[in-house]
Amino acid sequence: MISHVLPTYNRAPIAFERGEGSWAIATDGTRYLDLGAGIAVNALGHANPDLVATLTEQANRIWHVSNLYQIPEQEKLADLLVEHTFADTAFITNSGTEAAELAIKMVRKYWHEQGDPDRYEILTFEGAFHGRSTGAIAAAGSEKMVKGFGPLMPGFRQLPWGDMEALKAAISDRTAAVMLEPVQGEGGIRPLPDADLRLIRQLCDQTGALLVLDEVQSGMGRTGKLFAHEYAGITPDIMMIAKGIGGGFPLGAVLATEKAAAGMAAGTHGSTYGGNPLACAVGARVMQIVAAPEFLAEVNRKAALFRQKLEGLVAAHPDVFDFVRGQGLMLGLKCKVAPGDLVKAGYGEHILTVAAADDTLRLLPPLTISDEEIAEAVVRLDRAAGRIDG
Ligand SMILES: *Cc1c(COP(=O)(O)O)cnc(C)c1O
Repeated sequence: MISHVLPTYNRAPIAFERGEGSWAIATDGTRYLDLGAGIAVNALGHANPDLVATLTEQANRIWHVSNLYQIPEQEKLADLLVEHTFADTAFITNSGTEAAELAIKMVRKYWHEQGDPDRYEILTFEGAFHGRSTGAIAAAGSEKMVKGFGPLMPGFRQLPWGDMEALKAAISDRTAAVMLEPVQGEGGIRPLPDADLRLIRQLCDQTGALLVLDEVQSGMGRTGKLFAHEYAGITPDIMMIAKGIGGGFPLGAVLATEKAAAGMAAGTHGSTYGGNPLACAVGARVMQIVAAPEFLAEVNRKAALFRQKLEGLVAAHPDVFDFVRGQGLMLGLKCKVAPGDLVKAGYGEHILTVAAADDTLRLLPPLTISDEEIAEAVVRLDRAAGRIDG
């Protein structure tokens, strides 16, 4: 008989009832060191007192207001997003895949407004993940996600990840946009070299194609900059964010330049919940905390410490690990064993990690993780690896 919860997930037999900073506490009282952070969502750790105060204060005031009215909390979040990024405007969503949907719609609308509605092809990359809506799975085009869900939304072409020759051959003045993650998350914590991101920007400028960046996972301080594309010194035309922005509350956004957003007039897009006061109050607080230069400096300091210890871990288990990759606290251990086996071994050592494609074990701790917790994480990862290489 089918479970009451639609069985679309492979779940570990652990349930959590509480969280404190970098720790998730299971129903049996076991404390797990959380290096998954709900897949880069709990950016400021569990039950962050500052966010709890913001949430409860707003909960006592007003939760939901329709977008039929002005929403000051939404305006405050949009102000912060615009102030700290390339963007001139932001639409607030509840999730990453909703942000992807709007990004795709915005690209199509842009070319429609330019009088060129047939210019709709968006170039994407293999290994990409943009969410699970019909548009997002068509964009990423991965066999695993699209199988059985056809016919797919047309208008996407996937290129081999990081293949700049393939991109040069594919892009033209008929290309509507290029859409990519500056650091692939689900694809295996694979950063695109800064030079390639600059080249993509240049190719977009030459052809007029819009550059759409998916920073749902790599954004919000995860890589040590507020957004990963800042390392390359370029800016996109449109950007999707989610995950860390809500610190655990469902929240996402599409950021855009005035030019890219030009077609999005009243009535062209909307959302019942998107931009509700509760989510936006939390998101604005997360932005205020994460965008502070001192906060990002700490992320970078801790990332360097973590990375150095992970290099030691890889050297100590050459049959289990191949190398470390990633940026900031968006780290991946390329494995010589199935990463899922390491995730399981980690449960035995009371540490939470996440598997990704390309034989990668993902480490996405809360950005607030302490030096002591980083040291403890590496001890536990070492023991987990020991369970596998004996
Ligand atoms: C998680 C993720 C998404 C989808 O976000 P949801 O909130 O699950 O819809 C999109 N893009 C990237 C890069 C992601 O990591």
